[in-house]
Amino acid sequence: MTAYADRLEALAAEAADRCTTCGKCFEVCPTAREIGLDAGQAVARVGELAALTQGAGAPPDLLLKWLNACDGSARCSAACPEDINVRQWVTIAKMKALDATRPRDVGAANAANRFRHMAQAVRLLASMQLPSETLKKIVAPAERRTAEVLFYTGCNVLRTPHIVLNVMDILDALQLDFDVVGGTAHCCGVYQFQEADLPTYERIGHRTFERFGRSGASKVLTWCPTCTKNFDELEKDVEEPFFDLGHVSEFLAANLDALKARFVDQPRRRVVIHEHLGIGATVDSIRKLLGAVPNLELVELVQDSGFSYACGGQAAKFKDREQAIHRALAEGAVAAGADTIVTMYHSCHRALAGTEAVYPLRVVNFTDVIAEALGRGGHPDYYRLYKTGGSMDEAVTAARTFLENNGVRLDEASVQSLTADIFDETGLAGSRDAFAQAFTALAREG
Ligand code: SF4
Ligand code: SF4
Repeated sequence: MTAYADRLEALAAEAADRCTTCGKCFEVCPTAREIGLDAGQAVARVGELAALTQGAGAPPDLLLKWLNACDGSARCSAACPEDINVRQWVTIAKMKALDATRPRDVGAANAANRFRHMAQAVRLLASMQLPSETLKKIVAPAERRTAEVLFYTGCNVLRTPHIVLNVMDILDALQLDFDVVGGTAHCCGVYQFQEADLPTYERIGHRTFERFGRSGASKVLTWCPTCTKNFDELEKDVEEPFFDLGHVSEFLAANLDALKARFVDQPRRRVVIHEHLGIGATVDSIRKLLGAVPNLELVELVQDSGFSYACGGQAAKFKDREQAIHRALAEGAVAAGADTIVTMYHSCHRALAGTEAVYPLRVVNFTDVIAEALGRGGHPDYYRLYKTGGSMDEAVTAARTFLENNGVRLDEASVQSLTADIFDETGLAGSRDAFAQAFTALAREG
């Protein structure tokens, strides 16, 4: 075992030692209920979790079902009277259980396939929406940066890159010495960890984290909720870094006075935040930020915000539940007289970007709102155009220019793969044919 693997084991062992097997974590687990596991057997399930951690051999079936269902909501951690990070414990146990029940090369192959698929989609979508100088700036090696603050994008937000441009505008407005870093060359290694391919995880996610340290930055601002969770629980807790780590929304909320002083008049809006609990103080921070925007009224809606920490990812295992959450949100927002849904994260933004094809609601990310309140932002959200359907002229014209600028060629097979990628995700959308036909025509231009 490597030193890193040893330290992970130690974190899980510490949780097992402190656990009183009261069962509260299992009782509140939304995914355990979703797959029909009995809350009345909480003590037995947690006992099995502790036994697995203490080396009791292969995990029993019901424990394995629980671990595999976990989508990282962190409701367990919030319920634990001993203040144990149960999500972290479950994540490590799940990796260990997978390793014990499946040949390691199967997991490694799954992880490699998932990474390859994600990297191809990210590369194409970013090349369709961003100029090459911006892309090059983002993917340049982390260790060569010299700024005090690193804004770490992760990989998948580059499918909706206007969000990255917004954050850069906001940090610029704060006159911060910052640099932006991300892309698949700086992946957090989530697929490798999820597939129990720990050696490759160490070469990807663990190394990315070490590269931040080598840049000499004193602060790393994360964007992606998965990267935030992983770096917090699988890196920072394993070994305290020299830099400060936190989600960008929390940093902006801490700098609200400086932002507020720069806010300009805004149009009247009634907005609902599409909420997810589970990642630090992000919901509260975003609520605080939006609450300070001139003429913006926050409409409170009861939501199923504890089911997962973000849309997509692990939550995508529960398509029907996700679909029901999206529908209830949109219908609730309309009934409450809201005109806008504000998304917290990029995966939620992708899921809801096509809402206006179905409901009289605009969908924007919170960074759109804050950047515009600062008199900046306004970056086109081409993904919203893809997802809403209708005329693709603006999106195609932009993509033609950006693809040429990035030296990337779109072929028909890539358009088919992208269409599936964009429209097979759970969410609200208009016609997929509008995107497929318009971009197939673009691919045929050669
Ligand atoms: S993180 Fe959420 S889904 Fe996973 S075990 Fe905890 S409560 Fe259940
Ligand atoms: S809630 Fe905490 S103490 Fe109780 S069983 Fe779960 S981990 Fe153990």
